[in-house]
Amino acid sequence: MESVGVEGVANEVRTAYESGKTRSLAWRRSQLKALQRLLYEEEEGMFRALKQDLGKHQAEAYRDEVGILIKSVNYALENLKKWMTPCRVPVPLLTFPTRGELVPEPLGVILIFSSWNFPIGLSLEPLIGAIAAGNAIVLKPSELAPASSNFLAKSVSKYLDSMSVKVVRGGPDVGQKLLEQKWDKIFFTGSSRVARIVMAAAAKHLTPVAVELGGKSPAIFDSLSSARDRKVAVERIVGAKWVPCSGQVCIGVDYVLVEEQFAPILIDQLKATLEKFYPRFDCLSRIINGQHFQRLSNLIKDPSVAATIIHGGSLDSETLFIEPTILLDPPLDAEIMNEEIFGPLLPIITVIVHVQVLTLPSRFQLKKIEDSIEFIRARPKPLVIYAFTKDEKLRSRITAETSSGSLTFNDTMIQFACDELPFGGVGGSGFGQYHGKFSFDMFSHTKAVLRRSFLLEFTFRYPPWDAWKLPF
Ligand code: NAD
Repeated sequence: MESVGVEGVANEVRTAYESGKTRSLAWRRSQLKALQRLLYEEEEGMFRALKQDLGKHQAEAYRDEVGILIKSVNYALENLKKWMTPCRVPVPLLTFPTRGELVPEPLGVILIFSSWNFPIGLSLEPLIGAIAAGNAIVLKPSELAPASSNFLAKSVSKYLDSMSVKVVRGGPDVGQKLLEQKWDKIFFTGSSRVARIVMAAAAKHLTPVAVELGGKSPAIFDSLSSARDRKVAVERIVGAKWVPCSGQVCIGVDYVLVEEQFAPILIDQLKATLEKFYPRFDCLSRIINGQHFQRLSNLIKDPSVAATIIHGGSLDSETLFIEPTILLDPPLDAEIMNEEIFGPLLPIITVIVHVQVLTLPSRFQLKKIEDSIEFIRARPKPLVIYAFTKDEKLRSRITAETSSGSLTFNDTMIQFACDELPFGGVGGSGFGQYHGKFSFDMFSHTKAVLRRSFLLEFTFRYPPWDAWKLPF
């Protein structure tokens, strides 16, 4: 496919879109069904690719990518007709007799960039929405997950309409060439550095953009009254820190905030859970490549940070393995507390210790779990905030006083699997929401259609307004 060059690919897909075929319900349905078949029939191929790229365990690959995609495509098929149906809206009496409608229409040709950590899931999830909305699509998966990219190129052309949906493989150079073309929307999942490049290129053509980024997503850990609740909460934290892709996940727990008095309980439980989940490390994904391994090693190399490691910390550059590692109160000005970690390192921040370092106004007494709200507010808006608490007042305060792409109480990750909830960031964690109907909307233009009859005409609309008198 790449033999025709990036420009050729863009032209072919544009021609397919202009033919009008992608707009029909029949085409959209046939493509979603084809994708559904791909997911069922090529399951083994997906498992193999994810194992090869990331050492991802089959169970994890099904749970986080294949299974989620099957759910999403089924949901889109169930709701497609309803989503496509124009929706009547009330219009002011003054315009009588008139009918107002919201008519969704495809945007045109969509460019999707995806990242390497969920290389199949984060490629096909937006593809489902873009197809459902009746667009033609070019997908550019990450070059850092080559087996998954190859799988996508092969299977998408085998199952889907290869004139309207194409996969282009390659790295930043190919990405740049794609960005020189004109698109009707660019959907980007990745880093804020590259998002800036994408947005600058999109500005040239006034192309709308959605950017799904990352950031530092905290978990607030309240005292919780029972040992069982604490155990469940910690399992869910481990489940979002190490289980998915060894912490290389945008909605993972970046760090935990806990009152100093409860930190020992949390740490003991974390260690026990790690021992239970990982008697061996064979179902832990590996770090994607040497560069990311080095980046993560550097985060804990500084002696002031290394001194705070209380669990794990061993590294093997040969196998790109980093042991699940816990740090207690690393310096807040260290890189590990200012950059997205995106790996198996978990800092625990006790809300009493850093009162001076934080340089917050003195009225903030960082002693109570409530003070973590201020801690979070002093930093860029996260993609997600997790909070483990049974305190309704605290829940209300977190909801009202913090801003994040999403907010999940007493669990982790599952918000991603709810089609009824939009997924996306805010501020530094990105913009544009997708999943379920939100994906359909993301790739549609909602056209305002007003139908008027020739009955009734108010001549006072037009000049000359000689008879016009203000009522005062
Ligand atoms: P990245 O920005 O390096 O790459 C993303 C995509 O952009 C890839 O397809 C890549 O080939 C392409 N690209 C890279 N450089 C380019 C350039 N100069 N010009 C054009 N295209 C270019 O990101 P990544 O390393 O793949 O992903 C990690 C980041 O993604 C993390 O910050 C993580 O939090 C974020 N992420 C966000 C979500 C989400 O849904 N919000 C999901 C997964 C990952």
